[in-house]
Amino acid sequence: MGPARTAVMFSADSKETYTLYYPENLLGFCRYDFTKFKNRCLELCEQCEDAGRYYPDKAKSIADGISGCHCFYAHNRDIFGDIALDFMIFCLCGNSNISYEEMRRELVHFENDFEKVMYARLSEYRFGKGINGWELLSLAQEYARKKLGFICSGFASAEESDARRNYFDSVFAAAASDSEHYPDEFASVRFSRMGRLGIKDGEGDPRKRPDPKFDAAAMDIFRKIADDKRLENAPKKGMKAVYPKAMYCPESLFAAIDLELDLLADSGMLLRRCTGCGKFYLYGGGEERCKHCGIKPGAANDPVIKKLARTFAKVQRQVGKNVTEQEFLKWREVYDNMLAGAEQGIANPHELAAFSFMSDRLCDKGGNSH
Ligand SMILES: [Zn+2]
Repeated sequence: MGPARTAVMFSADSKETYTLYYPENLLGFCRYDFTKFKNRCLELCEQCEDAGRYYPDKAKSIADGISGCHCFYAHNRDIFGDIALDFMIFCLCGNSNISYEEMRRELVHFENDFEKVMYARLSEYRFGKGINGWELLSLAQEYARKKLGFICSGFASAEESDARRNYFDSVFAAAASDSEHYPDEFASVRFSRMGRLGIKDGEGDPRKRPDPKFDAAAMDIFRKIADDKRLENAPKKGMKAVYPKAMYCPESLFAAIDLELDLLADSGMLLRRCTGCGKFYLYGGGEERCKHCGIKPGAANDPVIKKLARTFAKVQRQVGKNVTEQEFLKWREVYDNMLAGAEQGIANPHELAAFSFMSDRLCDKGGNSH
């Protein structure tokens, strides 16, 4: 394993710092499955409709259930606090094929507590006090998948990956300006060096004359800490982890996604999508093999290797389900031998067929019991 790729984040919502692990956070978000969340929301929606009342505690528990989808979600609950309700509204409108505003007007004369709660939420959308958190989350996931897939498809070098990222951003910027927006308006990350009085990043008009009140404030603050015991008694060791150089505070989920891609690019590592098993893996460039299936970039054009890669993906999906970790490790040894043979062009067709049969059996066992 290489060095841990982490960044310190700050949440304007909870006023707390938290750690971003990249690109693991982004990859986890891309493959996050919201099926259980949706089913729980639909169940709750039925209960609310039957009882004519809303259950905020149950809604909160459903929202908590997907805290692991993205660290920004977990630490910015003001945006996503009503996500279960938002999902219900999203579905009810979709089922009746009406807009949020049409639904709001229908609910003006609400007849029960549930309708009242929905009306209040729809009014927040209407008057710019909130947006549908479910739509935001699901669209952001699509954005992350699309962008990552675009950047990582078929590239070989850091330059090309970087160029693809810039190309994607320029398409986004052009679409933004078509709708009379600038990406800076909504996709920004505040960056803080925690009290450092040096360079301020990205904000303010450089032509503006500095305000003397800032110097006055700096003098006052320094007078307060000039004899501060905290400086004398500072720990001699272990400061690095506790007092980071920089903190990032994304102002939106979209900005958090872009930040993670920036950090990854700055780290010199690249994400590559394996042409064999389809999974993303980190690599430093060149002919490095996929960290999952072990296939070399481009090798999956070979039909035998392609079939092995598909078998690999199938078996790996079953790990923790029909296939135990131990079984997988044992299977992996055989797989590695098969792959080595295929790469040298000496794979035996009978052995390959037997391997394929054995792999299918491994995946399907227990499949009949449910
Ligand atoms: Zn792979």
